[in-house]
Amino acid sequence: MRIDQEKCVGCERCVSYCPVGAIHVRKDGGKTKKRSWIDEDECVECGVCLRANVCKPEAIYLPELGWPRIVRRAFSDPMVEHKETGVPGRGTEEMKTNEVTGRFKRGSWGMAVEVGRPGVGARLKDLETIAMALAEKGILFEPKNPVMFLFEDPKTGKLKPELREEKVLSAIIEFVVKPHQLKDVFEVLRKASERVETVFSVDLISFPDEKEFALGVAREMGFPVYPNGKVNLGLGRVLNR
Ligand code: SF4
Ligand code: SF4
Repeated sequence: MRIDQEKCVGCERCVSYCPVGAIHVRKDGGKTKKRSWIDEDECVECGVCLRANVCKPEAIYLPELGWPRIVRRAFSDPMVEHKETGVPGRGTEEMKTNEVTGRFKRGSWGMAVEVGRPGVGARLKDLETIAMALAEKGILFEPKNPVMFLFEDPKTGKLKPELREEKVLSAIIEFVVKPHQLKDVFEVLRKASERVETVFSVDLISFPDEKEFALGVAREMGFPVYPNGKVNLGLGRVLNR
């Protein structure tokens, strides 16, 4: 996103809308007139400042985004649909739709690592750090997730190199774990947390009658757990009985 410096009147209305604090105000050439500008390295192209529609002189505009910058918008703007999956936002329906998708069956758990959050964001190199560590343990990533298209090699979790410094609000790595893998996966995530420069949270999703075992492992490994049920209301048929 950019701000047309000729049009901006420095009213600062847009500043508080930016979830990553990328909009700054400066005095113009030491004079009293202020103008806002966007730190393009920090901007994740979420579009919030533009959609807020608070800029009376219409100084905020979206320039054409090429590769690899377009990836920022794809993962950060909830109005943009990922062409690979047809799902907007982070581009995945996640395991909360498991009744329909059947991504994981009894005797295994769905896991997701949500890398980055509004207010912090994430460089994709941090996603790569986590993905490569998981791949080393033999984890296979969910194919219907747009993150898969960022990898140079989905089997190793290695990213296309030009994407490593790109910043997004958040992205999700999804996979299925078997009981014997769970401790290893938690250990990998704990170690990865010391190497990344952003926040991540871990989702562990089970059938209700299998949750105690999964929660027990998480607690044993020292992870704070916050068990929640998730109820999706809709007219979808349950296909994964
Ligand atoms: S597009 Fe999003 S991240 Fe970029 S300046 Fe606007 S609000 Fe901030
Ligand atoms: S709202 Fe528009 S005019 Fe006001 S500071 Fe932001 S870009 Fe400039």
